[in-house]
Amino acid sequence: MSYVKRHLPYGKHSVESDDISSVIDVLENQFLTQGSVTPKFERALCEYTGAGFAVAVNSGTSGLHIACLAAGIKSGSLVWTVPNSFVASANCALYCGADVDFVDIDPSTRNISIEALSRKLQLASENDALPDALVVVHFSGMSSPMREIRALTQPYGITVIEDAAHALGGTYDGKPIGCGIFSDFVVTSFHPVKSITTAEGGAVLTNDKTRYEQLRLFSSHGITKDRSKMLSTDPEPWLYEQHLLGLNYRLSDVHAALGLSQLTKLDKFVEKRRQIAAEYFAQLAHLPLILPVREALDESAWHIFVVEVENGKRRSVFQHLVDKGVGGNVHYIPIHLQPFYQRLGFRAGSYPHSEKYYENAITIPLFPDMTADDITYVVTMLEEALS
Ligand SMILES: *Cc1c(COP(=O)(O)O)cnc(C)c1O
Repeated sequence: MSYVKRHLPYGKHSVESDDISSVIDVLENQFLTQGSVTPKFERALCEYTGAGFAVAVNSGTSGLHIACLAAGIKSGSLVWTVPNSFVASANCALYCGADVDFVDIDPSTRNISIEALSRKLQLASENDALPDALVVVHFSGMSSPMREIRALTQPYGITVIEDAAHALGGTYDGKPIGCGIFSDFVVTSFHPVKSITTAEGGAVLTNDKTRYEQLRLFSSHGITKDRSKMLSTDPEPWLYEQHLLGLNYRLSDVHAALGLSQLTKLDKFVEKRRQIAAEYFAQLAHLPLILPVREALDESAWHIFVVEVENGKRRSVFQHLVDKGVGGNVHYIPIHLQPFYQRLGFRAGSYPHSEKYYENAITIPLFPDMTADDITYVVTMLEEALS
């Protein structure tokens, strides 16, 4: 059979005319930023996830940074995360002057290995080298085992930050990811390839009011205009006070308007993603590929679908896909193998499961607007590449 060549990215936003109208509305409004739309988006995020508080920011990376700052991460602190993530999961700790270390993944879920975490915590507690925070990544949209992570970290008072950049719209233990009851902070991203988009953007969710207030300060110069919080006993009407060294990580109302409109479609998008994942499971079963775990089919937000191609064939299969217009990608090059992290002293061989997984991984296209023909096309190109 011959096919007309397609051009499929690995991920893509769906922006519809009502999304566009809501952005135009804001552009015609008085406030492009610091108006009422961003707070409305924050309340909608709380409503969707069940979290008590949300701070919208200009990227997921900014969200990870202020979560670390609000957790008190600073020079001399230690933060652990997984190698199998985007560099931002580790960089956020370095921004605060802290040190980073990694915990290997479970090769079946590709999420943090509970066994490795347990072993590393035991060792660290014996050597008085426990981390101050753990950044947990919900790889591909499937939650890490938060109950187990909570049970392991709580005795040591370790702050848990969920990097839920892949996972908004997913569930864990019957609750929306982002509800924040299993951790101290949940960070998500609204980059166009993620579950919903604001172009660039992100949010931090928490159930703790004090942490929320810290997040808010760090996201906006450390400045408060809340008169009840001011040190001045007789604040002039124009007064604002800077209480700590914050950043300008605010999300504009223009971006928030897109997010607010997109959020109403989140369940629809994730449902589409699940259907596509289910199709892949059905249509790829006969091929010599390692597929994602299927158990979380109805819980995962299915940000990405990663197949593993063994026996050193990953590169040729990837190339065939690219040649046929199937936008491949690889999630992720282990963070510790990046030249920058090598300069910090990390070495290949330290996290064998992440490294072996990486050698075989290919992310195939998955986005809500994919058609049945698109799926068949991807499967056919994989069949060709593997024959
Ligand atoms: C996308 C992503 C981020 C960063 O989000 P941005 O909004 O692009 O800054 C962080 N962690 C993971 C796992 C991501 O996929």
